[in-house]
Amino acid sequence: MSEAFSTDDEPKMYKCINKECKAELSLADLENVQGVKCPFCGGRVLIKLRAQDGKRVSCE
Ligand SMILES: [Zn+2]
Repeated sequence: MSEAFSTDDEPKMYKCINKECKAELSLADLENVQGVKCPFCGGRVLIKLRAQDGKRVSCE
């Protein structure tokens, strides 16, 4: 299932809130797991990032 749609740089739409993980996930990442959970740490709490691209908020 790979048409003319191959980009490794999908916008990340979700972020794992696990402090030791903090993985940013794209929809493709979530497709690899059943349900909505972090494929890296298994955490089930993800926050949805803003869909708009281009803006990065840095408040660290
Ligand atoms: Zn995680």
